[in-house]
Amino acid sequence: MLSHSQLNVAGPIIGSGEFGKVECASLQIESVSIQVAVKSVIPGNCRTACYRDFCNEAERLITLQEHNNIIKLYGFVTRGDPKYIVIEYAKHGDLKCYLHTLRNSVITVAIETRLVKIAMNVASALEYMETLRIVHRDLACRNILLTEDYIAKIGDFGLSRDVYESGEYSLLQGAEGQGPLPLRWMPPELLNRGIFEPKSDVWSFGVVMWEIASLGETPFQTLPVFVFSKMLDDGTRLHKPNNCTNKAYILMYKCWLKHIESRPSPSTLLEELEEFLSENEKIFTNIHPDALSHVVDESQV
Ligand code: AMP
Repeated sequence: MLSHSQLNVAGPIIGSGEFGKVECASLQIESVSIQVAVKSVIPGNCRTACYRDFCNEAERLITLQEHNNIIKLYGFVTRGDPKYIVIEYAKHGDLKCYLHTLRNSVITVAIETRLVKIAMNVASALEYMETLRIVHRDLACRNILLTEDYIAKIGDFGLSRDVYESGEYSLLQGAEGQGPLPLRWMPPELLNRGIFEPKSDVWSFGVVMWEIASLGETPFQTLPVFVFSKMLDDGTRLHKPNNCTNKAYILMYKCWLKHIESRPSPSTLLEELEEFLSENEKIFTNIHPDALSHVVDESQV
């Protein structure tokens, strides 16, 4: 537990989340001052679901501190308002913003290698979460943070759940009391039937790979939810981004297999990504056309 007197929240604001803002701050621990990020919430000023997600995130972060690819927790300030979650500051911000900065640059081998390593960091965090049966449910580039050395760390555990809480499969609560959901990153079994388990995060990992390959596009951007959720159930998948290799697209496509058990485990994803490094495979080229069935370019719908 930390106290308000240990924190100097001088800003700047570095993001805004569902609960409130995320700001830069310095944390005083004995004689040492550390740059941190703080997420704040004023319980009376936000919806109940939002405060619940804030508390859920705090609880999850305590459980998940043993892994280098999960954002480090320094502590909480719970006395008085606002309440703060104090976490490691990620100098390069979130992955989606970083991908946007690459849009006007030449993708060099060094950048490709960095992106593969980022994907491996995320798969490694998923592997760890799987051992604890924790499902993130909101894995997306906006929730992946990059440190000074471009190490990727999963942040934002507001929607995460422990699948032990309700057995092997868990059902989403009804719409009542539910905050906004990241529908475009969700597998069909979660979208249409509310079922989630660790392989739901593998689906979202495929969407993260797709975001990387498209340099931060939004999945199914032009389609309303009722259209793409039906399309997913019918077997349609996100299109192959321009300049994405077949090898990278096949990897993401496997994450989107309808049969949950057939999706690769996080360990398999790690092995496959390792091949991208050792065999000098690429994410970005103009290889064409793909040989996969059921692939519909959303722009043609
Ligand atoms: P969140 O509330 O976790 O969704 O955070 C909203 C945004 O704030 C993220 O997309 C990041 O751009 C930024 N952010 C969150 N946490 C950090 C952090 N620890 N270091 C740097 N930026 C952060």
